[in-house]
Amino acid sequence: MKIGFIGLGQMGSGMAANLVAAGHDLAVYNRSRQKAESFAKGKVRVAASPADAATGAEVVISMLADDHAVSEVVFGEQGLASALGKDAIHVSSSTISVALARRLTVEHGQRGQGFLSVPVFGRPEAAASAKLIIVMAGDERAIDKCKPVGDVLGRQTFVVGAEPWQANAVKVSGNFMIASMLETFGEAFAVMGKAGIERQKFLEIMTELFGSPVYKNYGTMMADQKFEPAGFALKLGLKDVKLAIEAAEGLQAPLPLASLLRDQLISALAHGQEKLDWSSLALVAARNAGL
Ligand code: NAP
Repeated sequence: MKIGFIGLGQMGSGMAANLVAAGHDLAVYNRSRQKAESFAKGKVRVAASPADAATGAEVVISMLADDHAVSEVVFGEQGLASALGKDAIHVSSSTISVALARRLTVEHGQRGQGFLSVPVFGRPEAAASAKLIIVMAGDERAIDKCKPVGDVLGRQTFVVGAEPWQANAVKVSGNFMIASMLETFGEAFAVMGKAGIERQKFLEIMTELFGSPVYKNYGTMMADQKFEPAGFALKLGLKDVKLAIEAAEGLQAPLPLASLLRDQLISALAHGQEKLDWSSLALVAARNAGL
């Protein structure tokens, strides 16, 4: 399939590499052109703009930092919306707001273009090894066309609804749950620190109790106090918790715990943790405990 791929960051570079390996014909665009040039080998074409990446593509996948980045890439000068063909599909995999997903649905629809929200769960290692959990929502025909592409990127694809924004609601709610786990883990580690219990021992017990790779992987980062290099930067984690609060407010479903998480993440930023992994939330609880 002829695919435009926009955003070769930590996640996008692994995803795009898997599409190339599966034989798709890729044109890649990245704001900092250097990343696109070092990615493109063989048949991959470096596009000069998002519009260039979209020209002639059947599907354009965007994997960008946030709402601002997606808005610029889609609606900015030389944006992909200006060049995407009728019936071609924009697949948005970035973690963005429900509000922007709704806007993208309307704006692409008015241009006769398809739009799917396809956010993903999994860290850069999962993106590189095609083990992402893929969440899709949107028009059934567009889903039928893009599902095989999703299957190349992940270990399982879940279709959650006919409205693209529903997938974004799933994604931000899932990340809210991960953030809640980070907070409780961090608080418990602080108690263990005060109680003179080894972090590794506590981790071993909790991994046995909860039996989830999410607990194991994040718990290990906390136990080892290894928050760099950041697989998922704390700054992006704060973005996602805020998106969850916003989405829940729009649906009149309060998320009291998310409000607390937001403040804990702001505290982490105030202590210079912006570029650390978001599991460094544990440092906030440790500081509060005087450790
Ligand atoms: P990243 O490494 O920081 O990459 C961000 C990408 O967005 C880069 O290609 C960057 O271009 C581009 N970008 C940022 N601002 C832009 C702008 N104004 N205009 C054009 N391009 C812009 O982030 P990531 O970790 O790959 O995450 C990408 C998305 O996936 C985010 O929405 C994140 O929440 C989500 N996500 C991340 C993870 C994870 O564990 N990392 C897991 C699941 C989902 P430059 O190279 O020029 O900066």
